[in-house]
Amino acid sequence: MRVTEQRRLAALEAELARLKAEIASVGLVSPGSVVRRFMPCGKPGCRCQGDPPQLHGPYWQWSHKVDGKTITRRLTPDQAGLYQQWIANRRRIDQLLARMEQVSSQAAEILLRDAEAARPRRFRRPPEPSSSASIISGGSN
Ligand SMILES: [Zn+2]
Repeated sequence: MRVTEQRRLAALEAELARLKAEIASVGLVSPGSVVRRFMPCGKPGCRCQGDPPQLHGPYWQWSHKVDGKTITRRLTPDQAGLYQQWIANRRRIDQLLARMEQVSSQAAEILLRDAEAARPRRFRRPPEPSSSASIISGGSN
């Protein structure tokens, strides 16, 4: 491996180590999303049924999918704050993992080239059927 490639590989490995450390520092993670809703109630004559309607709320809800079905959970404002943080953490890990894939693929190119160069010469290009046929025809001339 050339010195420039060794340096490049070391830099990529350092970047990977930094990304891994950042992933390790992320706290709880959650799928789904948090929504804030305003809703009417069923009480006749309530302000939520006036004109214009003054809906009740806000109500906080966390929803996520399980086996294709949307599951929702009512939350207090404080709980909604926690879920928003956990969902943001999950997105951060997705971003970090995507970056790790990019860096890994750059490092992989260097390692693959190096492994290719280290292969014994006689294994580098397997003989093709057409080349052995041309040797036979060349020998008969
Ligand atoms: Zn109402």
